[in-house]
Amino acid sequence: MSAALAASENPNVQVKLFERHNRVGRKLLATGNGRCNLSNIYAGTCGYHGQQADFTRPALSRFHPEETLLWFQNLGLFTVIEDSGRVYPYSDQANSVVDVLRLALNKPNISVLAGFDVQKITKTGTQFQVDCMDEQIFCDKIIVACGGLAGTKLGGSMSGYKLLSRFGHKSTRLRPALVQLKTDWGGVVALKGVRSNCHVRVLKDGALFSESTGEVQFTEYGLSGPVIFEVSRDACCGSGQWHAELDFLPDYTEEQLINELYRRQNAHMPMDELLTGMLHNRLGRVITKCSGIQNKRHTSELSHYEIKDICRSIKAFDISLTEPMGMDCAQVTAGGVLTSDFDPDTMESRLVSGLYACGEVLDIDGDCGGYNLQWAWSSGRLAGTSAGKEAL
Ligand SMILES: Cc1cc2nc3c(=O)[nH]c(=O)nc-3n(C[C@H](O)[C@H](O)[C@H](O)COP(=O)(O)OP(=O)(O)OC[C@H]3O[C@@H](n4cnc5c(N)ncnc54)[C@H](O)[C@@H]3O)c2cc1C
Repeated sequence: MSAALAASENPNVQVKLFERHNRVGRKLLATGNGRCNLSNIYAGTCGYHGQQADFTRPALSRFHPEETLLWFQNLGLFTVIEDSGRVYPYSDQANSVVDVLRLALNKPNISVLAGFDVQKITKTGTQFQVDCMDEQIFCDKIIVACGGLAGTKLGGSMSGYKLLSRFGHKSTRLRPALVQLKTDWGGVVALKGVRSNCHVRVLKDGALFSESTGEVQFTEYGLSGPVIFEVSRDACCGSGQWHAELDFLPDYTEEQLINELYRRQNAHMPMDELLTGMLHNRLGRVITKCSGIQNKRHTSELSHYEIKDICRSIKAFDISLTEPMGMDCAQVTAGGVLTSDFDPDTMESRLVSGLYACGEVLDIDGDCGGYNLQWAWSSGRLAGTSAGKEAL
């Protein structure tokens, strides 16, 4: 949609937008838990990954977050910026974003061909032939903006990779990113639904692999939440022992916690209330249980070593990790079509002139927090402007 709108700014260009679903923007409706985290004002090249993360630089610098928000404002969207830099529609409804885009596409030189599943694109001479079911449509330029494989239930598919591979474009290995991580630790069931602000360290064979601070959500199969999405990229891939170490009270030192537990012991706090007011009740109970302390005992019986053990469990709770959830649960695809075969200044293929690609289909994935949609808007805009300009 971003590419189509940019290309249509040249009134001499006729734009056709092919969408396999019967409406545009279906995936967008599900983004940000239905709120659509459409950008992040801090989005810059360092928030992106891929074999050539620097590929994002021209697109992001030409259509940076501030410019994107201005563009949305001109389309009629009110937005709000949270302290973390995340941008949401003021209405808190993803459909506001889809609606302003849909209305903007209603232009004389744009035809939205919804329900058109592009199956094949070929090039003969200077013209591209687009095959959709039993129709063939001819175009001078093509922009492949099919998205990635992530979110398969919402339409993520191999389509874009396949369409581009016919032109010789190769892809790197595709992996789920911004995804929940599974555990084989049975205790997680008792914590289902618990949320906690943690510092998370992901360890591979005991060595630090990735770390971040934010909200963790426990699910029946493992760990979820923004901070888990952040540390999930490439976690649990390949051999090795994977663990998550959770610090449930990152703002307190172990020494402060030991002093607090002694204070509670002196106040004759019952054992099952020892961590009350510090942590989610269920989490507190799991922590004392995992430290080998029985509820029947009295806090006055706790030894110095047991108090230290409880504090260690609060500061470095160990959970074994098995694998990431699949592509159907992932928010973005890590890996994609090789960017080295595209010009970052125009998004045009270096293999086939007149062919462009943008968004998630390329080997670029962003951090959690609006980075992936920002890449979709920025790269789409650059592809659309380039394709539209050269058609003059
Ligand atoms: C559940 C979920 C939540 C997310 N939340 C956020 C968030 O809050 N913030 C954020 O920044 N990112 C988020 N993302 C990631 C973000 O949605 C994607 O990275 C982004 O939408 C990619 O944009 P795109 O234009 O490349 O592809 P898409 O948005 O996937 O759009 C591609 C379009 O092409 C269509 N299509 C594909 N193949 C064909 C074909 N052969 N013929 C015709 N049409 C075709 C698809 O139907 C689709 O409409 C989320 C993703 C998921 C799955």
